[in-house]
Amino acid sequence: DSYLNRLRALEHHLKSFLHVSETVRSDAREIDDKILRNEELGPLAGVLVAVKDNICTAGMPSTAGSRILDGYRPPFDATAVKKIKELGGIVIGKTNLDEFGMGSSTEASAFQVTANPWDLSRVPGGSSGGSASAVSARQCVVSLGSDTGGSVRQPASFCGVVGLKPTYGRVSRFGLMAYASSLDVIGCLSTTVADAGILLHAISGHDTLDATSSKREVSDFTSQISAVDSFESKPLKGLRIGLIRETLDKGVDGQVNSAIRAAASHLEELGCSINEVSLPSFSLGLPAYYILASSESSSNLARYDGVRYGNQATADELTGLYENSRATGFGSEVKMRILMGTYALSAGYYDAYYKRAQQVRTIIQKSFRAALDENDILISPAAPSAAYKIGEKVDDPLAMYAGDIMTVNVNLAGLPALVLPCGFVQDGSSNLPVGLQMIGAAFDEGKLLKVGHIFE
Ligand code: GLN
Repeated sequence: DSYLNRLRALEHHLKSFLHVSETVRSDAREIDDKILRNEELGPLAGVLVAVKDNICTAGMPSTAGSRILDGYRPPFDATAVKKIKELGGIVIGKTNLDEFGMGSSTEASAFQVTANPWDLSRVPGGSSGGSASAVSARQCVVSLGSDTGGSVRQPASFCGVVGLKPTYGRVSRFGLMAYASSLDVIGCLSTTVADAGILLHAISGHDTLDATSSKREVSDFTSQISAVDSFESKPLKGLRIGLIRETLDKGVDGQVNSAIRAAASHLEELGCSINEVSLPSFSLGLPAYYILASSESSSNLARYDGVRYGNQATADELTGLYENSRATGFGSEVKMRILMGTYALSAGYYDAYYKRAQQVRTIIQKSFRAALDENDILISPAAPSAAYKIGEKVDDPLAMYAGDIMTVNVNLAGLPALVLPCGFVQDGSSNLPVGLQMIGAAFDEGKLLKVGHIFE
C-alpha cells in the first residue's frame, strides 16, 4: 500500500509509468497466503518490480513506448519477468521509455515525457528513463531496463541510482522487443549494488527460447557481496583499476570530471592501484554504434506491419495498410533510424558503412580485451554531463547521440558494466547526481558487484 500510494502521489509530477498493474494487491495477498500456509518463499517474495515497457508482460499492455503497439497485450511473459514472478516478485507496472529504446532522454516516447526526480525540469536520461526515475523516487523497489547502447547506465547516472548492464547473453532476450539484437541486453536498476546483484541472479541463465543466451554457470553474486569484510582497511588491495584516458577532460563537464577523479582516489584509498589506460579506438564507437544499431533496427522493426500486432490503419489494399500503419504508428526518431539503417544496408553502400562498422567493432573488442588483460576493471564517467533540461536537445539529434559516447563501446564489446552514484554536479540551485561506470571482463559481473558494494 505504501508503495502504491507513493507511486500515485508522485506520478502526477514524474510520469514514470505507462501502466500500473491492477493486480498488485491480489499478487501480494498470494504471498501472504503462502506465509500463512508456511510455504517456502522465493528470494524476491513481495518485491515490487517495475518493468520497462519494451519487455513483454502477460496480459498487461506492452507498447515499447510506440503507438504502433497501442493496445497490444502479449499473451506471454518475457523470460526475465517469468523468472522474477517465479521467485515471488510482483510486477508493479510498466515504465516509460524512448520509443523502442531509441533515444537518450525518454522524450522520444510516443505517450509522455518523464521527469527527473532530482529536478523536475530535467530529463531522467534514456531510454530506460521511466525505470530509473521510478527507482530513484522509490515508486518501486527495483526495476528492469534494457541496454543497447547505454539505456540502463545513463539514466541510472542521471537519476542517482545503481544501473547494471550484464554481459551480452547473460540474460535471456526472449520477450524483450528487439531493437538491435547483437547489442540488446536486459539490465537492472536499484538503489543499492546488493539489490542489483540479487535481481541479476534472479533473471540470469540459459534459456532455450533465446539461442544467444549463455550456458555459463550463474554464480551467486549475493554471497560474493556478503563475503566482503567491511572492517578491513584496504579491502580492495591488489585490484588493478584502469582509468580510461579518452573519457576524461576533453568534452566532459568539469564537475563530472572532478567527481570521477575523486572516485578514483577513493578506490585507491580502498587499496586499488590506479593506472591511466588508453583505448585509441574509443571515439570510433559512436559512429560504429549508430550504423550498426540503425541497421539492425531497420530489419527488426519490419515486423510491425499493422497486421500482426497493435495499431492497424485503414486502407484499400495490403501495401497501403502496411504504409499507413507504419506512417501513423512510428514516431519521427524511429522513422529516422529505419531510414538510416536501410540506407547503410543497401547495395552499393553496405561495404562502406555496415561492413566498416563491423570491422571497427572488432577493433574495439580487441582493445578492450587488451586493456582488461592489464586491469581488473576499467572506469569512466557514465555520461559526459549530468541531467540536462527537458527540450534542450530534442531538436539536435547529433548532440543527443554524442551524449552516448561513454556507454556504446561497452555494448559493441559485449561487456558487463555497473554504474553507481559517485558525486554531484551543482547547477544553479540543482544538485544533480553523477554516475561512475565500472567495466569488467565478460561474465565477471561478480567482481563488479563486489567492488561496487565496497565503493558505495
Ligand atoms: N541512446 C542510444 C540509442 O538511442 C542507446 C539506447 C539504448 O541503449 N536502448 O540508440
